[in-house]
Amino acid sequence: MFNFLLATIGIMSALPEEGDSILHAMTEKTVVHVGKREFVQGSFEGVPVVFCIAGIGKVSAATTAALLIERFHVDEIVFTGVAGGGHKTSIGDIVVGSTYVQHDLDTRPIYPYFYITSLDTQMIHADPSRVQRMKNAAQRFLSTGIQFPHLGVCDPKVHVGMIASGDQFIGSQELHRSVSNLIQDHLSSDFHAVEMEGASVAQVCTELQVPFVVLRTISDKADHKASGNFLTFIEEVARQYSLGILREYFKSDHK
Ligand code: SAH
Repeated sequence: MFNFLLATIGIMSALPEEGDSILHAMTEKTVVHVGKREFVQGSFEGVPVVFCIAGIGKVSAATTAALLIERFHVDEIVFTGVAGGGHKTSIGDIVVGSTYVQHDLDTRPIYPYFYITSLDTQMIHADPSRVQRMKNAAQRFLSTGIQFPHLGVCDPKVHVGMIASGDQFIGSQELHRSVSNLIQDHLSSDFHAVEMEGASVAQVCTELQVPFVVLRTISDKADHKASGNFLTFIEEVARQYSLGILREYFKSDHK
């Protein structure tokens, strides 16, 4: 039985490998198709949820977030997936996004770099209380002692910080440096994770006044080894992180 007093949470991932463990753990499932997307309504840890694999990139993620809000009336969106790391993160670490930047959004010369006209800002902030809850959930998950020594994941850590998104896989030191320098030059800041969706979800949710939080496990260092590391990681690790952390998140505060 659904509990209609509980808020409904939208859960998104870009790729099946990042989210299908949550889908499998859901009960009372109903599938609804909207255009090319499949939304699954159901229950996860006793909480009403709507789940969708959005596909890769900012447009796919933005479309999915907007549909979750307008069609399915979710009260919150949680995005879970993998990302390339920044200077302070290692493979297997977890990043909870407190700030979000679209690193490929160049609106000069009219506006500054990264500027979002509808929100009059270059950088979006997530709701601090959700960020804290997700951080706590990730820490509880890591305290179970998860390790993947053959992938170099021995003592993973949780970070709260900037997520930089753009429609490009960052797979070389040169690209990593250029994104990092751009953010340093224009915002005097550095990213903790670089990926392809988070900041677009942040924009849609902020415009439509729905709270959100993006959770990323570092699959690669966004360098010349990124492609190989990313593929191994999504096959072997990503599912366990998504399911384990979201279980903790949902257990903690949604009931
Ligand atoms: N070259 C890969 C592309 C996958 S896209 C392939 O052929 O399979 C990578 C997905 O994981 C995106 O959804 C993105 O959000 C995330 N991601 C992981 N590592 C990334 C990185 N180094 N740069 C950008 N996105 C990354």
